Amino acid sequence: MAERDIRDITIVGAGPTGLFGAFYAGMRGASCRLIDALPELGGQLTALYPEKYIYDVGGFPRILAKDLVKGLAQQALQFKADVRLAQEVVGMRRAADDGGLPLFALATPEGDYLSRTIVLAGGIGAFSPRRLPLDDYDAWLGRGMYDKVIDPKAFAGQRVLLVGGGDSAFDWAVNLQGVASSVLMIHRREGFRAHQATIDQVRRLCAEGKMELRTFWEVKAIHGDDRVAAATIRNNKTKEEERVEIDALIPLLGFVSNLGDIANWGLRLEKEEVVVNQLMETNLEGIYAAGDIVTYPGKLKLIATGFGEVAIAVNNAVHHLNPAAKLFPGHSSNMEGLFATTG
Ligand SMILES: Cc1cc2nc3c(=O)[nH]c(=O)nc-3n(C[C@H](O)[C@H](O)[C@H](O)COP(=O)(O)OP(=O)(O)OC[C@H]3O[C@@H](n4cnc5c(N)ncnc54)[C@H](O)[C@@H]3O)c2cc1C
Repeated sequence: MAERDIRDITIVGAGPTGLFGAFYAGMRGASCRLIDALPELGGQLTALYPEKYIYDVGGFPRILAKDLVKGLAQQALQFKADVRLAQEVVGMRRAADDGGLPLFALATPEGDYLSRTIVLAGGIGAFSPRRLPLDDYDAWLGRGMYDKVIDPKAFAGQRVLLVGGGDSAFDWAVNLQGVASSVLMIHRREGFRAHQATIDQVRRLCAEGKMELRTFWEVKAIHGDDRVAAATIRNNKTKEEERVEIDALIPLLGFVSNLGDIANWGLRLEKEEVVVNQLMETNLEGIYAAGDIVTYPGKLKLIATGFGEVAIAVNNAVHHLNPAAKLFPGHSSNMEGLFATTG
């Protein structure tokens, strides 16, 4: 199958480090595949703080996280890396010898991807949506309860109960206006982690009677036959309980992350972080790592350091694949014509 073709470099993680690594792989003429467990590019920037400004990335006095991701994606994908989103890498094995070099098979729920080298840019691990603490949580997923909103039109005319106090919950409270027939939003405490402008927007909508926002309320139970039909919500201060009739329950509680299977690969780890040397090599030949996932003396978990580390990782991977290739990539400013963004 074409999509299963062997790549020179497979980058696990499409956060800022992985995206910049894909750019570097392209600049070095290496074929590249990017795999991420999330449905979108950008890692922590997209999942945790898309609307926050970043002030410490070179060249940008300040930039919104989502705009940095947009630029990184444009830069990274000009060399046509094969991008596989919503696919967690759940296993790694040596597949076969390929001209004397090790060949890796990376397992995902969609099948195996073959690669000559691996660059781990998995950050703080694969993200998955934080769950409501209910025993029957799994039973309701997809049956009126959704831990992400892909198409708001799916909630047309529905009575929606939104749970959460971060950017996703607030953004969807706004974006479901005029789509859902009613929106009740609850959060277990008073403080919110969302962008102030969106909080203000939601407060205005509440004042206009277009939705309701309640703090200190949590979901206690979900009711229904085949699908969600109601929920019991509980005020954690007053202990008051109320049954609300709903068509959809959308918990948007942020994400939890976990190194997952990568912890079982035989990599040298320190406190769930992958130990690398100054070439960004791990203890396993052909596997490199960069970004938040790595540790070494003096490591700083910053976007800027991830960029530098992944450039080193990719250049060493290229050199490993072809020892005749120069380690130093040359200066991009001397490579006009190579880049889609030129001119
Ligand atoms: C609220 C907040 C604000 C921040 N502000 C700043 C700032 O101002 N400046 C700054 O420099 N840094 C900031 N940071 C830190 C910065 O976001 C991280 O240093 C950066 O995201 C690390 O990038 P990364 O690509 O290494 O990892 P990540 O961004 O964590 O991306 C890793 C990706 O790998 C994927 N992944 C992991 N395991 C697997 C697997 N097994 N299979 C498939 N995919 C996998 C994950 O889904 C994720 O998308 C902030 C962090 C937070 C939480």
